[in-house]
Amino acid sequence: MAAPVNDPAHGFCRDCLTLQRGPAPRCERCGSPRLVRHPELYRLHLAHIDCDAFYAAVEKRDNPALKDKPVIVGGGKRGVVSTACYIARINGVRSAMPMFKALEACPDAIVIKPDMEKYARVGRQVRSMMQALTPLVEPISIDEAFLDLGGTEKLHGLPPALVLARFIRTVEQEIGITASVGLSYCKFLAKVASDLRKPRGFSVIGEAEAPDFLAGQPVTMIWGVGKAFAATLEQDGIRTIGQLQKMERGDLLRRYGSMGDRLYYLARGEDDRRVTADRDSKSVSAETTFDTDLAGAADLVPVLRALSEKVSARLKKANLAGRTVVLKLKTQDFRIRTRNHQLDDPTRLADRIFQTGLHLIGKELDGTKYRLLGIGVSDLSDAGKADPPDLVDVQARKRALAEGAIDALRDKFGGKAVETGYTFGKGHRGRPTRPDEDEGPEIRHPWERI
Ligand SMILES: [Mg+2]
Repeated sequence: MAAPVNDPAHGFCRDCLTLQRGPAPRCERCGSPRLVRHPELYRLHLAHIDCDAFYAAVEKRDNPALKDKPVIVGGGKRGVVSTACYIARINGVRSAMPMFKALEACPDAIVIKPDMEKYARVGRQVRSMMQALTPLVEPISIDEAFLDLGGTEKLHGLPPALVLARFIRTVEQEIGITASVGLSYCKFLAKVASDLRKPRGFSVIGEAEAPDFLAGQPVTMIWGVGKAFAATLEQDGIRTIGQLQKMERGDLLRRYGSMGDRLYYLARGEDDRRVTADRDSKSVSAETTFDTDLAGAADLVPVLRALSEKVSARLKKANLAGRTVVLKLKTQDFRIRTRNHQLDDPTRLADRIFQTGLHLIGKELDGTKYRLLGIGVSDLSDAGKADPPDLVDVQARKRALAEGAIDALRDKFGGKAVETGYTFGKGHRGRPTRPDEDEGPEIRHPWERI
């Protein structure tokens, strides 16, 4: 077999993995039309792999009678759609859609209750197969992960692109589900690429084409630009990434704070985040069980504040920061509620964790009595990029500065030297220990991994 070369015509066949030497539309060996060609194909090594309609695919695998039927995995008649198979999607069913709407769109859909344990098992199987390819596997969720295959060519005797194609083929054959691959030079575009041609996609976005490719895309393609932020941008007349590419960095920073930085760099296809193994599956958290069950803000908020400080102290000690704030509540009847919110940037500040927790807990104060409250952060990274100065929210900035001063005092005089308004003098029965009584950083798996 001739060595793979970076030539627009020299792709390979995703079915038989044979290298192609010419521009023919079908494989020279097996006749398959599933060919990959790209001028940077054998240079790129950062990939995002995402299983296709994962829960539904697992159900179809386990019950072949479902193969050609529209399948929805979700929480019964009153719940919402977790995953719809591609047949159901063609009929207009989408994730997170209320089930009654989904069944209006696709009345003959077969609805299956989620079996999370089973999906977690299959997810772990796929993940351990990924880990056999490279130690640099960064899971994002149960069915997707980033992989950095840089430097693995000698090990595999194949360039990353071919290793990935072979991997997908093996997953299909051995596990019985399909997945899509995005191959690029950075995380942002690897993730974008994996989504371009689902299911069974294999998309490549090279460095040379990135700015042009991005110019025509909507701002929502940028990581972290959700509906609300897209609406803000729209008000400012910004709809496409191309418009962002023409703006000055200072202007974006002034308008959107730390998010402006992200817009500036990602719009240009510049993303220097590395793939870090297993970071995302961990969290730093603190929780406390009450002597008597509590329901009101007056009781719960001071506890939330104290727990946020504890989490922050742990993060600071371990030199970590987290981007997703997770709130955990256990009701009187032992039901666990977790709510989470992803921040624009990783944080290690008690105040930011607390404010986010406050926002999350607000919706849960409906008279329900709780026996346990916990707060934590996941999506961990080094503290280096945490809490960039917020140019928009002056109050948040002031609080961050104050927190730095409080930390310094605590270092000097111990944890009880300074108490904030929320925790001061509360003497609460459910109150957790202060940061200085801590055993040190505790990193553990999130409460709910799915
Ligand atoms: Mg998926």
